[in-house]
Order: sequence, then structure tokens, then C-alpha cells
Amino acid sequence: MSWLGGDDELDDFEEYDESSIRTRPNPKANRPRTKRRPAHEDAVVGRVLGVDRGRYSVLIAEDRPDEHTVIAARARELRRTPIVTGDRARVVGDTTGDQGTLSRIVGIVERTSLLRRSADDTDQVERVIVANADQMLIVVAAADPEPRERLVDRYLVAALDAGIRPLLVVTKTDLADPSAFLSHFDGLGLTVFSSARGRMPVDEIGAELIGHSTVFVGHSGVGKSTLVNALVPSAGRATGHVNEVTGRGRHTSSSTVSLRYTSAAGRGWVIDTPGVRSFGLGHVDRANILAAYTELAEIAEDCPRGCTHLPDADDCALNLAARAGALGETGRSRLESLQRLLQTFGG
Ligand code: GDP
Ligand code: ZN
Repeated sequence: MSWLGGDDELDDFEEYDESSIRTRPNPKANRPRTKRRPAHEDAVVGRVLGVDRGRYSVLIAEDRPDEHTVIAARARELRRTPIVTGDRARVVGDTTGDQGTLSRIVGIVERTSLLRRSADDTDQVERVIVANADQMLIVVAAADPEPRERLVDRYLVAALDAGIRPLLVVTKTDLADPSAFLSHFDGLGLTVFSSARGRMPVDEIGAELIGHSTVFVGHSGVGKSTLVNALVPSAGRATGHVNEVTGRGRHTSSSTVSLRYTSAAGRGWVIDTPGVRSFGLGHVDRANILAAYTELAEIAEDCPRGCTHLPDADDCALNLAARAGALGETGRSRLESLQRLLQTFGG
């Protein structure tokens, strides 16, 4: 079962209609600030799967018969360059992966995307969450905990800012009907999955994972671990209720890990993040959000300099077009959704 935004109800998950969100390579995906250039010609490039107490597990020779994981420390020369799950790391030293060996990360390959958050909306200091993801699966529960559109909006903004395609799954639809909640996201052209106890859309979501790196985000308690375990049976992510106030009962590790999704149809990467409580957007650039709405971005080229594109901006070309009836129903709905997202952060 699926709900798709916009005016057309499409049955096909594969279909991604004209009015859907466009993402593009992130212009801001920052370059690793490695000053020292490859004195390390023997370095091999591997995928950072996770980080635990300063030790990185890195997958070498991915998809080759000799694929294996090594444990690596970061070279001192990297200084404070963040290395995160999903990074392509340049590794030297003992890369056999044999018991007790430790290799060294001497650099990271330029990222194609970078998902980050700030401590809050005014904080420009960003925390890097995941590198090189091209999709974000936002997990929200129909009830217990109650879905909050504002939180979903914030995830959407973070995804669009990073040039990552957002997808949405509503869990616990056995407990409540999510239609009213979902109507808030009309106009985004968002692919939406519905999940219920005993009826998890494993194949449908799985089909979207193949060939992609998909970061899973959601508030704790929404059933994200349950879903990850269904998609990746070997994952063994701890599930269970977490007290939201004290955080007690949290036996899930607090780190972000890459897990491999495998089906007869292909493979992909699931990047599971710990339940994120706050998702500050202090770093977000409104131009990146606008750019995801291709056809509206074109109209906005006629906006006055520094236009906020918000509903109260009288000279905004988008508002003028809407008032002149030039946008049509879909266009107006998309403009509303864009303006809502623009209002979710201070930028
Ligand atoms: P996480 O904190 O997001 O990883 O959530 P968990 O996967 O640990 O799930 C939290 C609780 O919700 C657990 O008790 C699950 O059994 C329960 N749960 C997960 N999915 C569903 C669902 O679709 N329906 C119902 N009724 N409960 C669910
Ligand atoms: Zn404008």
C-alpha cells in the first residue's frame, strides 16, 4: 500500500512523477580537508561501516571475492577531519583484516553528499551524520509515539539540503489511520510506505534500497529497529521501548552503522542512525530547498534579491504567480509545501 503526494494517486512505487522532488548532487558536500596529499600510493579505498571508540570498521574490496573488513585507526595527519559512516576511506598498513591487526586511515575520498545537523537552528556548528547517502528513509509511527509533522519537515529539509532523495514510511498503521497526518505532505511527490505489525512492506522498501545508500532516520520508539531487522535479518538491532525523557532502556548502540540489504533482486546499503532527538537546521541554505522544486525554482528566478519566498513576501514571483492563477492546483500545493519547509528553519 502506498500514499503518494500530489493530485495523482499512483499505485506503482517505481513511478516517480513529474512533480516529485528533484535532488541533485550536493553543491556543499564538503571536501575533505586533507592537506597532505597522497604520500600513500599504496592506500586502498574502503567503505566506512561504523565507528566505535575511535576504531573504524572499513569494508575493503567491496563486492569482490576477497571482500573483507578491517579495523582502522585514524592517522594523526588527518587532525580533526570528521570520518563518518559511509565515507570512502583511504587505508594503509595491514589491510589483511586478520585478527589483531590494525590499519590506518590516511584520507577520505571526496563526498557525494553529506548529511548533517546542527545542535539547534541558530547553531552554525554542524555535526556530520552520514556521508555519501543518496536516499533518506524517514520513519514515523502512526501512533505511539504520535507523529509530528514538524519533525518530518525537518528531516525533509535536511535531506533536500544535502541533495538526498527522501522517502517516508509510516509504521504502526495497525494502531491508527495515518491519512490525516499524511495529507500534510501532499505536493511533495513523496513516496510513502505503510507498515503494520505482521505486515511490513519489506519487499517494497527493499526494491527502493537496491543500488542505493539509504540512511534511516526517526525518533526513538517509532519501530525503526524492527524495520531494519526485517530488512536485514542479520542486523540484530536491539528493539524495545525507550523512555523518551530519561533515555533509559536504550540498549541500542548509539552509533551509526552501515548494514547490507540483500535480496534476489540486488543489494543496497541501509545506514541506521540512533534515534535523533533534535535535528537542528542552522546550516541549511534555503536555495538548496528551493532547488528541489525545479519548476518553482525557475519561476523564482524573477524574485527580488534576498526574497524569502514566504507567504508574506508580496513581491515574490512565486506568490505573484499563485495569485495570478498561473500555478494550477498541483503547483499551488507544491508552493504551500515549499513554504512550509522554508518556515521550518531560520535560514
Ligand atoms: P525504534 O526505537 O524506532 O528502533 O523502535 P523499535 O523497533 O525498538 O520499536 C519500538 C516498539 O514498537 C517495539 O515494542 C516494537 O515491537 C513496536 N512496534 C514496531 N513496529 C510496530 C508496528 O508496526 N505496530 C505495532 N503495534 N508496534 C510496533
Ligand atoms: Zn520569492
